[in-house]
Amino acid sequence: MRLNIPLTGDLEVEAVREVIESGYLTQGPKTAAFEAAIREYTEARHAAAVSSATTGLHLALVALGVQPGDEVIIPGFSFPATANAVIQQGAIPVFVDIDIETFNLDPSLLEQAITERTRVIMPVHAFGLCADMDAINDIADRHGLPVLEDAACALGGTYHGRHAGTLGTAGVYSFHPRKIITTAEGGMITTDNDELAARIGVLRAHGAVRGELFMEFVDAGFNYRLSDVHSAIGLAQMQRITEIVDGRRAAAQKLRAALEGIDGVRLPIEPKTIAHTYQSFVILLDDDIDRDEVIRRMRTRDIETTLGTYGMHLQPYFRDRFGISDAQLPQTTRAHHQALTLPLYPQLEASDMVTIADALRASVAESRRG
Ligand SMILES: *Cc1c(COP(=O)(O)O)cnc(C)c1O
Repeated sequence: MRLNIPLTGDLEVEAVREVIESGYLTQGPKTAAFEAAIREYTEARHAAAVSSATTGLHLALVALGVQPGDEVIIPGFSFPATANAVIQQGAIPVFVDIDIETFNLDPSLLEQAITERTRVIMPVHAFGLCADMDAINDIADRHGLPVLEDAACALGGTYHGRHAGTLGTAGVYSFHPRKIITTAEGGMITTDNDELAARIGVLRAHGAVRGELFMEFVDAGFNYRLSDVHSAIGLAQMQRITEIVDGRRAAAQKLRAALEGIDGVRLPIEPKTIAHTYQSFVILLDDDIDRDEVIRRMRTRDIETTLGTYGMHLQPYFRDRFGISDAQLPQTTRAHHQALTLPLYPQLEASDMVTIADALRASVAESRRG
């Protein structure tokens, strides 16, 4: 059993065929239509398709004015692309510990991480559960700082009824096949800020603006465009967005019911007013359970599982460069070692849930330390 299988079919195949046969392949009408579909769904004022969430985060940081040497605050527990986007701009990622209940940035630790060099606060909506944005926005407002949401996993997630990615100054979604919808590779930046959207538009395509006959290059921009081939897949996926998001949430409820009561296993938390996308269904194992051994044992039972995500300070590049101790990020460290992602996608049957639960119960029992 695989960790995730994207929901794709003839709709996506035909959409790609149509673009290829049209002879117009790069950013064009399909990208514009895909952006419009995201705007309509999320109620964001602007949406700009980009080649990935990583390039989207980088582009948004540049457009927000982040300069080399500036600091950007991020949670310690995330896919390293969150930090890499900061580093690519020559800026410094400042890691804040997480709340182990939600796996999201702990707002009670945020204010003490702000310095005079802080330029952006960048919360991550871990696995599709929105961070505590009211608390984060309050602190950001008090310090006059923009908030960039890493909403890579959170398309379709909501916070007090509003969409993830529209809760801060700007947000970025990913369309990698492990995320909510896919374009193979791709991403989207959303914002309600007109000026920021204009800067993003120029920087996305070589820093160029249209003159009477030729382009004029007003900035040293990037090529972070999404092609119409990819956007056509995304547009087809947006026709299924409700099916996909509701399907993941329904599958998560069934898996939750099947897993109830397994000793040593804490199931994902979902606060009442925050709708989780369950991009990943991530459980937390008691400290006396060897998580890596559970992954091996699940594999022998033909079920793919993996870690939750990364304590970035434990990865070689970040360890060597920043030398952050486990004691500085205790909950991040714990999540890095004890979190486990289980298979979850709408196509799973009730019998698959029972198979996962039986395998997990046995694998956990076999993986107690000492
Ligand atoms: C997947 C992911 C990214 C990177 O997305 P890409 O589209 O693959 O570049 C960034 N941040 C988080 C939290 C992610 O999960």
